[in-house]
Amino acid sequence: MVLGLSFGNGITLIHFEQQKPRLFTAGDHLDCRYIRAFFKRQGMTATQYIEPNLSNIYDTTADIAAMGNEIIALHVTPSNYRLCKRLTSTLKEQEGRNRVIWFGNLAAVIGEEVFGETEVDGLVRWSPERTLSRLVNTEVEGWSAVNGFTSRTMVGRKPGGDSQALPTEEEAAAAAGVMELDELTGVWEDTSDRRRVAMLSVKCADQLGNPHHVAQGIRRHSPERLQRDLELAVRTSRQTAPVITIEGFDLIRDEVQREQILEVLEEAVFKAGYKLTVPLEACTYSMLERFKQCGVEQLQIKVPLGITPDAFPKDEAINYMIWQRQTGQPMTFSVTLTDDGNREADPSLTAELLHRWITEGVIEAISVRAEPMDRAKAIQPVILPEALAAVMLEHLTTEQPPVLLNEYTAYMTGYYPQQAIGGGVKHIGLTEPLEEEVPSNYFGEYTALNSALIYEYNQVYRGENPSYIYYDSDGVWKRSNRRFEELSEAADKEEYYLSNAHQVVQTEGTEYILQLNDFLQVEPIRIRQMGYSEAATREQDKNNVEFQMLRITSTEDLEAYLEDVDHFSRTGTFQHGYEIQSYLVDSCRWSGAQTCTVKQLPRLFVDGNQAVSGCRGCGAIGTLDDSMDRLLLQTAVVSDREQLVRGCATCEISASCTKCSFLPAYMNRQQYCNIRKKHNTMHLYMQTIELLKGLNKYSQALDGLSVDNFRMSLPTCTHKYPYERRGNVRSAVADTVFLFFIGETPTVYQTASQKLLKLSEPMALLLEGMMAGANRFELKQALRDRYQVEEEQADQIISQATDLFMQEGCLKHPVAVL
Ligand code: SF4
Ligand code: SF4
Repeated sequence: MVLGLSFGNGITLIHFEQQKPRLFTAGDHLDCRYIRAFFKRQGMTATQYIEPNLSNIYDTTADIAAMGNEIIALHVTPSNYRLCKRLTSTLKEQEGRNRVIWFGNLAAVIGEEVFGETEVDGLVRWSPERTLSRLVNTEVEGWSAVNGFTSRTMVGRKPGGDSQALPTEEEAAAAAGVMELDELTGVWEDTSDRRRVAMLSVKCADQLGNPHHVAQGIRRHSPERLQRDLELAVRTSRQTAPVITIEGFDLIRDEVQREQILEVLEEAVFKAGYKLTVPLEACTYSMLERFKQCGVEQLQIKVPLGITPDAFPKDEAINYMIWQRQTGQPMTFSVTLTDDGNREADPSLTAELLHRWITEGVIEAISVRAEPMDRAKAIQPVILPEALAAVMLEHLTTEQPPVLLNEYTAYMTGYYPQQAIGGGVKHIGLTEPLEEEVPSNYFGEYTALNSALIYEYNQVYRGENPSYIYYDSDGVWKRSNRRFEELSEAADKEEYYLSNAHQVVQTEGTEYILQLNDFLQVEPIRIRQMGYSEAATREQDKNNVEFQMLRITSTEDLEAYLEDVDHFSRTGTFQHGYEIQSYLVDSCRWSGAQTCTVKQLPRLFVDGNQAVSGCRGCGAIGTLDDSMDRLLLQTAVVSDREQLVRGCATCEISASCTKCSFLPAYMNRQQYCNIRKKHNTMHLYMQTIELLKGLNKYSQALDGLSVDNFRMSLPTCTHKYPYERRGNVRSAVADTVFLFFIGETPTVYQTASQKLLKLSEPMALLLEGMMAGANRFELKQALRDRYQVEEEQADQIISQATDLFMQEGCLKHPVAVL
């Protein structure tokens, strides 16, 4: 998707937003919006590249090239720096005429050594809106004379040359008179397009001005303009009470000016809440009260790594912060530690302050960030002094980054959501050491920009080694990890964009440790991996099973698994805790019709001989020398051929079978089909387990669920409806509906609407009857027998129930009368 329309002579703007550590989307940014608005006013075109599901680096550059602009401007930030660097070189490699320019806060201050380290053509130093428009209107040969721009060809000289370093008349007038940012109009007026993602931040100031001005590059909006922007932003947010970030508040040092801004916020207080960043000095009782009065809901406090006793907030201020937690609408706090490079400053007071805030519940350790004071050093990690590192280690929770764990379980189970696949391999598993090392850029052909390499062999757990912790420019707490550093360095050398590299390290027997990148894990992520048949013999406490992966790699494992499936089909219950708490490796093989994603190749497994397969432990589809297209083609050929040979199109369970086309060595196609046909409710077993995992993770609805108090209603097993299902009658209940009992409470979950409804017992009885294919007469009979109601009343109950089930999309078709 693009914002704006290009005619090939404009500019393409790109902003990579880090959604979660090391997972990016191409989205919009306020700085980009200012540029687009300025271009529009000049009658020029700036096109924004938007892509929520980024493909691999080559397809991404091809998409960008297809927009037809030779000038590509990347909004570079500390977290997306590595990605911008790689994209820049690929854009230049693919088309020599492409001019890649960086802009934004980091580009404004970064040193000229960047030209040695990257392929970037130039850096926008100030006023990106005007500077970029001048670049578009100037021949490339003349770029070195453009004011506010450092081009590769003028390294060593001042931006724009000495004679041009002074502001243009226009900029000088803006800076001297009205607020410079006010000159940039139309930023919010053009936001009526409802397809656009709402932006929940407005600027009151930024640092993108000409540093030769008196204001040292700080551009401001007038209070009047801030007020108008705020109103438009709130209106276009499409939320009833949005929390709007007021960008640049911490840049305003003048108290009168700050108060003017607070007055604006106060006036709009009933329409929105605000997020502000403030220096530690603002943590006084009276200022905190004032912020609260103005509707500030989130306060980010910048705290130097070393503070003096004078700067330590007073007790009354800290007590006010503690008290906030008990109020109905609390103001929340977070901390950004700032490193001014002064190693003399004593960090023990900062450590004491952090410790107090964390233990009193004012801030959460996980939300503490760190940044260098010097913006030009923003891509370097901040290494914490020992006293502070000790506090962070003590308080950082043991919670793991859930997104990356979800990614790992997708890799192991083979369950990938449809919207997440396509456009490149998500995970490459290296199952054995390569006999012949290959350069890591071999993987670049296959991987998407958010992919992970997963090293499953021969790794050494180095958690015990001396290491230091630091806060990295990608916004993640890390522990130095030599193996990851080696991989990154090798990837960098080979110009491969290594997004994630995880290591699975066997510690002993069935015990493994998962090391996600070099992320700081206070507690290692321990995973148990074992054969399915072993799980039953080891289970001691049904309701307390550790994070474990179960493999089916032998006939014993398969038999143990099928016994569990059968038990479920007969009784609607689980025999063991591990069935719902563990992850079954390659669950996709045993699940419903839509679960096989092999044709999109979200996973690749590489063995020691560089043979590549799409599924774990299965036949190769090629080698590392093959192109992605070739691997995709080969997979599709094998898959289609298998389905043809098996006769899937006319199979009686075609609608509920995965039709796994890549089978492991212990099972041939005949055996697979026999198993699937014999255990024809297996897909319901797998879907129920998935459902329980999902509900457990994302809702509290299943609090108190244990293996022993859960029962599922199935066409083969009802709990309230008394009749056996008759031969060939069809269930009236949609496949997306699950009816289950927690204790005696019947609950229905509709996966299509994601609604969870508690039912009364008679309603559950009726839904079970409909599932078992009962007609209206049989339903009536069942109600009368169980509740001794009159025929008329039974009729009424059935009508009401049918209406409700229809309305909720629970029924595929009306219930037959007879
Ligand atoms: S059981 Fe065999 S033939 Fe039937 S749908 Fe599944 S894979 Fe195809
Ligand atoms: S072929 Fe089989 S193992 Fe591979 S993704 Fe499909 S269902 Fe899963």
